[in-house]
Amino acid sequence: MEQKPITKAIRIQTDRTNEMEHSTPLFLTSSFCFDNAEDMRAAFADETDDNIYSRFSNPNVQEFTDKMVALEGAEAGYSTATGMSAVFASFMTFLKNGDHLLSCSAIFGSTHTIITKYLPKYGIESSYVNASKPEEWEAAIRPNTKMIYLETPTNPGLDIIDLDFVGKLAKKHKLILNVDNCFATPVCQLPIQYGADLVVHSATKWLDGQGRVLGGVIVGKKELINDIYLFCRSTGPALSPFNAWVLSKSLETLDVRMERHAVNALHIAKELENHNKISQLRYPFLPDHPQYSIATKQMKNGGGIVCFNLKGGLESGRKFLDNLQMLSLTANLGDTRSIASHPASTTHAKLTEAERQAVNITSGLIRISVGLESVDDILYDIKQALEKC
Ligand SMILES: *Cc1c(COP(=O)(O)O)cnc(C)c1O
Repeated sequence: MEQKPITKAIRIQTDRTNEMEHSTPLFLTSSFCFDNAEDMRAAFADETDDNIYSRFSNPNVQEFTDKMVALEGAEAGYSTATGMSAVFASFMTFLKNGDHLLSCSAIFGSTHTIITKYLPKYGIESSYVNASKPEEWEAAIRPNTKMIYLETPTNPGLDIIDLDFVGKLAKKHKLILNVDNCFATPVCQLPIQYGADLVVHSATKWLDGQGRVLGGVIVGKKELINDIYLFCRSTGPALSPFNAWVLSKSLETLDVRMERHAVNALHIAKELENHNKISQLRYPFLPDHPQYSIATKQMKNGGGIVCFNLKGGLESGRKFLDNLQMLSLTANLGDTRSIASHPASTTHAKLTEAERQAVNITSGLIRISVGLESVDDILYDIKQALEKC
């Protein structure tokens, strides 16, 4: 019987030493030696999978990548230094002067910056479609459209995009479907099952899950990943062996961590849903979420993020953050420690007010990354801060 993905995430080991370490050792080396000229020639000619140089490959990086390939049900993968280098490489490998990229409008702030500020420098056009209006997607496809890019759930508004619908659309128009699966993680949602050609991740978030290292990864079809590998091997966004070693260990607990994050988040969402200081609470697995039926179809649970709008707007948002006693105020998400953030003044501050409104980011929007502390303590802290708003 073939092992299940979560077993592979625990058991895959790329150990090239003859020692018998139970935990994979750290291969902190920039390059690798060969016994003789012939072995070295063969490695450079791609006739073997021997490691040559850690910008190309490294055992720790390969181990992390292999686990992600198994978890996402992909054919191949390449790991990068950050989530943004994964996103950027996935664009620059396939898009050229004259091509068009179709993206959902609610995307991570730096991805928005790449699309609107840098891609035009290379003659790459782009346009946005509303995540919650799938009927707009087909009309937005142009003759020169090459790729569809999306995040689901979206950050920070938690819109859910129907992967089955977009997967079929991409197939019909022969477009590369590229999905940022950072918010859900592969233990909750598998975009490749719905036709995604590429899946990108910020490993910095839930995949590490403990706020220690930066990392990114792209998985997908073998021939596409090979092109990404060749682009990255020359341009240099490689994941460091140390970070890969940390991340590979993190994946061993991803499934159990995400299950508990989601249980805590659902409990908090239910408890706060009708709070008098809150006007709009979002969690994908609450029945009044506008895309609840899509969420429950394509996700195993609702994930670890809860969003709500404070009736008091910007001023209440600041008071809420200032009155938290336990939750961290930090520019990250997906940690064992619960985190509160205020997108309008931080991650999405570079967007204009109109752009923010288009992606449902109100001035009072608060995003909670629900951690693994006792849910009673998380809820207590949020409620006492809400009282002071
Ligand atoms: C954080 C994040 C990124 C960027 O990842 P980094 O590791 O910070 O470069 C991309 N997409 C989403 C959805 C994110 O949350």
